[in-house]
Amino acid sequence: MTALADILIRRIASTGPINIADYMHECLLHPEHGYYSTRDPFGTHGDFTTAPEISQMFGELLGLSIAQAWIDQGSPTLFTLAELGPGRGTLMADMLRACAKVPGFVDACTVCLVEASDTLRAVQRETLAGHDVQFSTDVQSLPDGPLFLIANEFFDALPVRQFTRHENGWQEHQVGIQNNALALGLSAPAPITALNHRLGDTVPGDIVEICAAGTGIIATISDRIAGSGGAAIIIDYGDWRSKGDTLQAVKSHAFCGPLDFPGQSDLTAHVDFEALALAASATQTTPLTPQGVLLERLGITHRAQALAKSLGGTALQDHIAAHRRLTHPDEMGTLFKAIALFARGCPPPPGFVA
Ligand code: SAH
Repeated sequence: MTALADILIRRIASTGPINIADYMHECLLHPEHGYYSTRDPFGTHGDFTTAPEISQMFGELLGLSIAQAWIDQGSPTLFTLAELGPGRGTLMADMLRACAKVPGFVDACTVCLVEASDTLRAVQRETLAGHDVQFSTDVQSLPDGPLFLIANEFFDALPVRQFTRHENGWQEHQVGIQNNALALGLSAPAPITALNHRLGDTVPGDIVEICAAGTGIIATISDRIAGSGGAAIIIDYGDWRSKGDTLQAVKSHAFCGPLDFPGQSDLTAHVDFEALALAASATQTTPLTPQGVLLERLGITHRAQALAKSLGGTALQDHIAAHRRLTHPDEMGTLFKAIALFARGCPPPPGFVA
């Protein structure tokens, strides 16, 4: 049993079952035993690999999209370039390197990383050595002024609540105890106002999820962009409207049960992009765009060909495989999707349509 399982069992024994959001939060961010608090989980030796870790092209192209959005808004001379959940800091490093060629951009920006894990902050500091970087734990404390923001695989790490529809309302999924081990259970059915909009597209037995943390963060970003200018690009796996149980646990590149290794496996849930778009009511949002389409529109094939010229042998094979992995429909190309938020009256960032 993991140390965190022990702590959770004692807590549940004294105060009763906890919901899935509380369980996810403890597993990912418990200060001593949380998954992100205790490790750098990325890469082939870790638990999973993310797009920026697959190829530098990902960050370069997204950086240039953000830079063009900045130019389209008159190149404001002071702005915040923010990233939510930067992992190893690779995406931001690749963005800044590509954007160094855009006159004025790097000098005008204050780089702000929203990161909860001290362990990963240390890794990000190292990756971004040579850049002035500010850290915060929430989007409310980002500096005032225009905000250009990126988030890759951040929203899927935020805690979700899960509910099963019942004749008499909804039953919330809970983590309780059975035979001195963590076990899933259901609350008594009750009406849930926040799920009234799901009464039309569900029947008893269907499972839906709510990510209150995600919609709260998006509403803050949307208000900021509407008030001070800027744009945000959100990339993640998920769909326009999530339905069903999407909670998943991954350890060493293999799936495991969400209760099997609390604090030692990565827990994620699909992002419900419709819910994010509805929360971004102060700004415009683009249609949901598959990652492969977005990267193709941003010119990944040209960039891949240019980089290939200086490569040979296994490095070239790896580079070709990375291009395919990021864009192909059988790989990350359609599983991962993106939306952008942008101020009314401005064009969307390149790669997106309005
Ligand atoms: N964007 C990175 C890493 C994605 S993993 C990449 O693409 O490689 C999720 C990241 O979000 C990690 O850095 C994790 O520590 C951070 N994180 C998770 N929950 C968070 C929260 N509530 N607030 C701030 N950061 C969080």
